[in-house]
Amino acid sequence: MSEPTAPVKKKRKVVLDQRLQAYRGVWVYIEHERGRVHPVSLELLGEGRKLADTLGVELAGVVMAGVDAGAEARGYCQTAFEYGADLCYLMQSDVLGEYRNEPYTQGLTDLVNAYQPEILLLGATTLGRDLAGSVATTLNTGLTADCTELAIDPDDRSLLSTRPTFGGSLLCTIVTLNYRPQMATVRPRVMAMPESQPGRTGRIVEHGLLLAEADIVTKVLEFIADDRRDTPQLPFADIIVAGGRGLGKPENFQLIRDLAKVLGAEVGASRPVVQAGWVEADRQVGQSGKTVRPKLYIAAGISGAIQHRVGMEGADCIVAINNDPDAPIFEFAHFGIVGDVATILPALTEAFWVKLKRQASLPPQEEAA
Ligand SMILES: Cc1cc2nc3c(=O)[nH]c(=O)nc-3n(C[C@H](O)[C@H](O)[C@H](O)COP(=O)(O)OP(=O)(O)OC[C@H]3O[C@@H](n4cnc5c(N)ncnc54)[C@H](O)[C@@H]3O)c2cc1C
Repeated sequence: MSEPTAPVKKKRKVVLDQRLQAYRGVWVYIEHERGRVHPVSLELLGEGRKLADTLGVELAGVVMAGVDAGAEARGYCQTAFEYGADLCYLMQSDVLGEYRNEPYTQGLTDLVNAYQPEILLLGATTLGRDLAGSVATTLNTGLTADCTELAIDPDDRSLLSTRPTFGGSLLCTIVTLNYRPQMATVRPRVMAMPESQPGRTGRIVEHGLLLAEADIVTKVLEFIADDRRDTPQLPFADIIVAGGRGLGKPENFQLIRDLAKVLGAEVGASRPVVQAGWVEADRQVGQSGKTVRPKLYIAAGISGAIQHRVGMEGADCIVAINNDPDAPIFEFAHFGIVGDVATILPALTEAFWVKLKRQASLPPQEEAA
């Protein structure tokens, strides 16, 4: 019998057009809303910085805004510098007041054609997904959505964009060989937030947009704020208590809410309990839900399937409660409690209440002792 042979890694043949070889630099689209830069853009600047350093090129932010944003838009550039950008391309125009696909697509396409970056990253937010797809189409280039890892191939400088595939059971790495820029979107909280460097500065390159309002078919008639916009966002919560099918019945989800309340935590859930209607869809954690990165993630009655894991494994500390000692979640949880959720959850809630009550009634020095 012959010896098994090692798998052969097929070497890719790079056929990058001469014109596209001139594309240089890493760009991050700086998303902002109502005067605030979206945290995913800052996370991407951290990741973009690493890619730019590996390639030996500059990291640029792209800020697009209405003329009425005035100095605010320069403030977004300053934020980008403090999170790692060397320069910012700033495009301001009357037609860029509220986000609309048409003018933003034309603006970003113009910027890419003028300054030719090799990599363009956007957050996989509602806006980012809309803009990335249409810009990739107008530029006739490749876009890899919802990446979980970005790296540079040392052989040919190409961007290696890794993302889950086949229902999350496999990870695949996608390469845009023949086109530039190489585009990727990344969901909030997938990449770590970099440290800010207050006072760090950079260059601003202003670029105009030749587009008249009369040539745009979509009009913004009114802005209606999401009435849940003050509710804390799951992806940015510090503590999450999440429940799964192991809770057994919808009423038991209250055990999750009780523990979350005493910890000042947000409530999360696995997909089956969302599908069963025990909890709202925006509480789902995982591949087809939210990606979270809390300091503490308590998973109760959750098996730890790969589709759930990819959404929460970035947590600093994972505590799993499961009555099956062989549940997959114990393979990656930092602390495991083998037991029935119906016993463990109320016991934890009670213990934290007692602690809270003690903290409230004792002078600080006694509590510290
Ligand atoms: C394309 C695709 C996308 C998906 N996206 C997501 C996603 O975004 N998020 C997600 O969560 N899933 C997702 N899934 C589903 C995923 O594959 C799993 O089916 C799901 O995560 C399982 O949820 P669960 O752990 O709550 O349930 P189960 O797998 O049924 O696990 C329940 C766990 O509870 C334990 N248990 C039972 N009774 C008790 C008790 N009394 N006390 C303590 N523990 C108990 C069991 O031992 C078990 O480990 C996706 C699947 C596909 C195919």
